[in-house]
Amino acid sequence: MNKIQAIRGMNDILPEDSYKWEWIEYRIQQWLLSFGYENIRTPVLESTDLFVKSIGVATDIVEKEMYTFTDALNGDSLTLRPEGTASAVRAALEHNMTYSSPRRLYYFGPMFRHERPQKGRYRQFHQVGVEALGFSGPVVDAEHVLMASELWKLLELPSEACRLEVNSLGSSEDRVKYREALVAYLKDNENLLDADSCRRLHTNPLRVLDSKNPDTQKIVASAPKLLNFLSAESVANFDRFKSLLQRANIDFKVNPNLVRGLDYYNDVVYEWKTDYLGAQGTICAGGRYDGLAEQIGGKSVPACGFALGIERVLAVLEHCKISIPRQTPDAYVVFADLKTQDYAWDVSTELRQNNLCVVLHGGAGSLKSQMKKADNSGAKFAIILGESEAENKTVSLKRLRDEKNAVDNQQQEHSLSEVIKIMREEASGTV
Ligand code: ATP
Ligand code: MG
Repeated sequence: MNKIQAIRGMNDILPEDSYKWEWIEYRIQQWLLSFGYENIRTPVLESTDLFVKSIGVATDIVEKEMYTFTDALNGDSLTLRPEGTASAVRAALEHNMTYSSPRRLYYFGPMFRHERPQKGRYRQFHQVGVEALGFSGPVVDAEHVLMASELWKLLELPSEACRLEVNSLGSSEDRVKYREALVAYLKDNENLLDADSCRRLHTNPLRVLDSKNPDTQKIVASAPKLLNFLSAESVANFDRFKSLLQRANIDFKVNPNLVRGLDYYNDVVYEWKTDYLGAQGTICAGGRYDGLAEQIGGKSVPACGFALGIERVLAVLEHCKISIPRQTPDAYVVFADLKTQDYAWDVSTELRQNNLCVVLHGGAGSLKSQMKKADNSGAKFAIILGESEAENKTVSLKRLRDEKNAVDNQQQEHSLSEVIKIMREEASGTV
């Protein structure tokens, strides 16, 4: 029989890597709380309609990347969420969350897109996203960019690791006017466009701007610019946004062809990009989506947000050789025989009650083989319990790592309270 394996593009995260996830998740959570964001958790499965109405029919995600199936019990069309914004807005509307005041929300979790798996692009990947609901721009938009730039600093990413590109998509009326001018220009050059862009020309012409095809890019370079079609209000919003970034000393480049792959955006949009991950260069992206709540049948709620891909941020950290500490136990407890096992059990419990991280050897094994396991566990100390220790209610302590200033690496017998004191002084603490 064939071995059952994980689905392509959906990865197991094993202990060799999961400690990095825990490290980054913890930092991200602290960072989000420090900006006053509250956690929201929504189901991974939603009505297909939610994503079709919000992300837009003529987008990569809705056209070809969604995991959609029919619920055999009632015929409903369901989709594994490809992104988090639509779900967060749906939940906020459903629970009347923005009724009396705006809300700053964040989510963390797996997203699903049926893409061709490659480094930095998976079918199940993880995003952290923030959504500020009930705020009209552009101060909160700038706050979001500031937050991301603070996170890069917290993660100790060098400033050249990621750069910021910004643009304004204006209002939907601005885009209608621009669309006409763009379509006219692209039609004149239709024979020079790639096949995908020719199709997009009729379904979603703005997306042609973000084509990766070099020949199409040449045509796009001379296309009319959306920035020249913005209303006075959108221009003022964009200017204020940019001046707030300057105030925070955040470098950016205006990229007039930045349109984002989802239809719900208006006004300010931006992407943080890196040169370290090849074609998977966008690590964080977002913008304003004032029309989204109405688009999915709710009342109008001005809002903006961004999402970052955890796999890509971790890949950039790895590229920059940022070391992520792996937590190891304070002690590994070994014992001579079954008679001392009860004593080892009690000692381990007492150590844990003193906030120490303790692994009690499981099963049998000679002291020598147990000591090998103690060493492999990465623990700082081995606690060795034989007949005499059990009788005298003492413990023998042996330092397993060569620490600086370590006076002695020999096994030494102590009272339990002495050992707790020694170990507390060097305890690894929480992440
Ligand atoms: P790309 O242009 O790389 O396809 P996108 O515009 O589709 O990205 P968004 O929908 O804006 O991406 O999602 C926000 C972030 O989520 C991206 O910047 C990226 O870090 C991450 N991301 C998106 N799709 C994937 C994927 N398939 N695998 C891993 N990370 C992803
Ligand atoms: Mg994509």
